[in-house]
Amino acid sequence: MRLAIFGGTFDPVHRGHLEVAREAATKVSLDRVLFVPASHPPHKGYRAHAPYGDRVRMLELACEGEPRFEVSRLEEGEPVSYSVHTIEKVRSTLAPSQELFFLIGADAFAELPTWHRWRDVVKLVTFIVASRPGHVYTVPEGARVIELPTLALTVSSSELRRRLAAGESPPEIPPKVLEYIRSRGLYGGTG
Ligand code: ATP
Ligand code: MG
Repeated sequence: MRLAIFGGTFDPVHRGHLEVAREAATKVSLDRVLFVPASHPPHKGYRAHAPYGDRVRMLELACEGEPRFEVSRLEEGEPVSYSVHTIEKVRSTLAPSQELFFLIGADAFAELPTWHRWRDVVKLVTFIVASRPGHVYTVPEGARVIELPTLALTVSSSELRRRLAAGESPPEIPPKVLEYIRSRGLYGGTG
């Protein structure tokens, strides 16, 4: 069983997240990608725009029909979402010899040395780092990294939130997720 954790705010989930996860699953032969939405992301200067329950639901809709993808509520109710806590929880369910992967984009990986207990994190996982246009990174000492260098997807949740607020229907958002956003009145779009 080869498993990767994919953490993020997913506010909202978009095609970039899904393509990165598919590419990782194929290239690294993963059996499962565990999407773990953060309850309170420490790296964002804001609270998430959509409530935790809505971000989980959007992920569930986006992962329908993807047998390797699963959505986890591991960070539900955590006052702060630190990846090291999530990683330790997942690790504790695995055999000690089993490798655990952590899927991440280049922008987030570049900030690794600012994470809570990052030196413990690098001991616990092998990173799968997806390239992201405009973001370079160096590999911190001791980190194991598998690079996914071919992806160059410019899509981001921040840009999609702006376009939703302007009333657009961005094709980078899966149709069922877009429908959910409309039905819940998320992100200020009138639809
Ligand atoms: P925001 O603009 O709000 O920061 P985002 O699009 O960066 O949203 P996050 O939820 O912050 O999405 O990201 C979750 C994970 O997915 C991070 O590791 C991030 O680097 C990665 N990721 C998101 N979009 C892409 C992309 N287009 N290419 C590669 N990785 C991505
Ligand atoms: Mg981001």
